[in-house]
Amino acid sequence: MMRCWIIVFLAGLGHLQAAPSSESTPELWKLAKESADVHRFSTLFSAQDVRDYLSSEAGLAEAIQWCQASGVTKVYLEESRSGYQADRATLARARESFRAAGLAASGCVTTTRVGKPSDHWGSRISCYTDLATQDRVQASFEYAAGLFDEIMIDDFWFTDCTCSNCNAARLARVVTVGSKTYPVSGDTWVDYHCELMLRVSQDRVLAAAKRVNPKARLIIKYPQWYEKYQDRGYDVVRETAAFDRIWVGTETRDYSDREWGGTPQYSGYFVMRWLGGIGAAKCGGGWFDWLGTTEHTYVEQARQTILGGARESMLHCYGGIQHGADIGALRANIPELLTVAGEVRRREPVGIAVDKPPGSSPQEEPHVFDFVGMIGLPLAPCHEFPTNAPSAFLSVQALADPNLAAELRDFIATRRPVLLTDGLARRLTGLVNLTATNVSVLAVGGQPKSLLELPQTRLDDLRAPLLSALQTSFRAPNRVALYLFTHGGWVVENFNDAPVEVVLNGQALKVEARGWRYHWE
Ligand SMILES: [Zn+2]
Repeated sequence: MMRCWIIVFLAGLGHLQAAPSSESTPELWKLAKESADVHRFSTLFSAQDVRDYLSSEAGLAEAIQWCQASGVTKVYLEESRSGYQADRATLARARESFRAAGLAASGCVTTTRVGKPSDHWGSRISCYTDLATQDRVQASFEYAAGLFDEIMIDDFWFTDCTCSNCNAARLARVVTVGSKTYPVSGDTWVDYHCELMLRVSQDRVLAAAKRVNPKARLIIKYPQWYEKYQDRGYDVVRETAAFDRIWVGTETRDYSDREWGGTPQYSGYFVMRWLGGIGAAKCGGGWFDWLGTTEHTYVEQARQTILGGARESMLHCYGGIQHGADIGALRANIPELLTVAGEVRRREPVGIAVDKPPGSSPQEEPHVFDFVGMIGLPLAPCHEFPTNAPSAFLSVQALADPNLAAELRDFIATRRPVLLTDGLARRLTGLVNLTATNVSVLAVGGQPKSLLELPQTRLDDLRAPLLSALQTSFRAPNRVALYLFTHGGWVVENFNDAPVEVVLNGQALKVEARGWRYHWE
């Protein structure tokens, strides 16, 4: 079954008046308000931001003004982070003030420095086998639920602890949450960490918050690092089923940044679409930050989030943006981004189907999809084998599908084009006959980033059969991505620092450096 066609998704008394004072504010604010049901921009005030920026009337007024000038129509006011809990009266007053000014306001909890530290990651990440730590995390969600009906959880809701208590529980194959025990299906660390985080989520977060506030709805925000989810206890199938909503980390930062680099821009689109397929209507939006970004990459993160089908772009976070992000560049692009979001929301993505089963290990091919997207192959991310897709790209991640060999044999027999990584082809030797002319092998050599150096002739050879199955032809240099949508929609995005000439379906186009071109019929 192919289920990768992405499903199209779908105030109080205040202390301050809504009237914006800046000359430039009214137009963008009006547009943002009108567009909010299609796509909205939001921001987070971390618990420390609440203390530092929202404790005074002047700070609150300035924050509201900044949001309105930035087209931000929703705020998340965080209750706790890294051992600090924001003041209840300050949170309540800020909540009412933002709502009075016409913004939506929800809560957030970041589970860093909660109780006993993990023996692996260090003090920010906790050992949730520890019952006292479970008590502490429960208290932080009960506090948040007393203030808000919607609560986001930032992407530190995981554990990698392998302490002696965790190890004993893993070997006994039992998770203990409060006074309850749950069996674990296997004895690997993946088995234990995933079961532990699911059960702690259900009993200590979801049930606890809803006892305090039956209207509470919890959002689990998944990190950008989707290849490692299972290793740290993120089970995207069962946790997505348990939580009310999901959010997606699309913060790719700058590929060449020395501290934060290494993730190509296309990764934001890929993870947004992949989790969008798993979460369907529960998938609310993307989340990116300013760390390690330039003016270009900051805006590119917004583009990738919107092309990925997000209904909301969360700008993390107010305090950080004041000192880091080029908010001016984003503001200037918001009208165009909202227009594109409207067109994307009316369409479904079309592309070369990719099978990334939930919980699958990348082995030597981490993020190979992101690099394949960067070389101009338009992908339709799936979490199941794409039986009915017009063309497919498969990597070692697909081996997590126990029926892969049979499904692939059937796919090849239909003569539709399929591209396999060399790592997968090697592992299928003797299981699947890969000599048919509709099968191509991509030389990754365990170095997915090497794809960014592929020469034009190789790019042309790779694209031709896969795109032909989509009734498309595309000639472009490396690092130019193509996105196809139903009803004739397309986007070409140039990630190079120089303008490029491309030919799409016989039409020559010039795309500016770090620019994009699109067409909607
Ligand atoms: Zn532990």
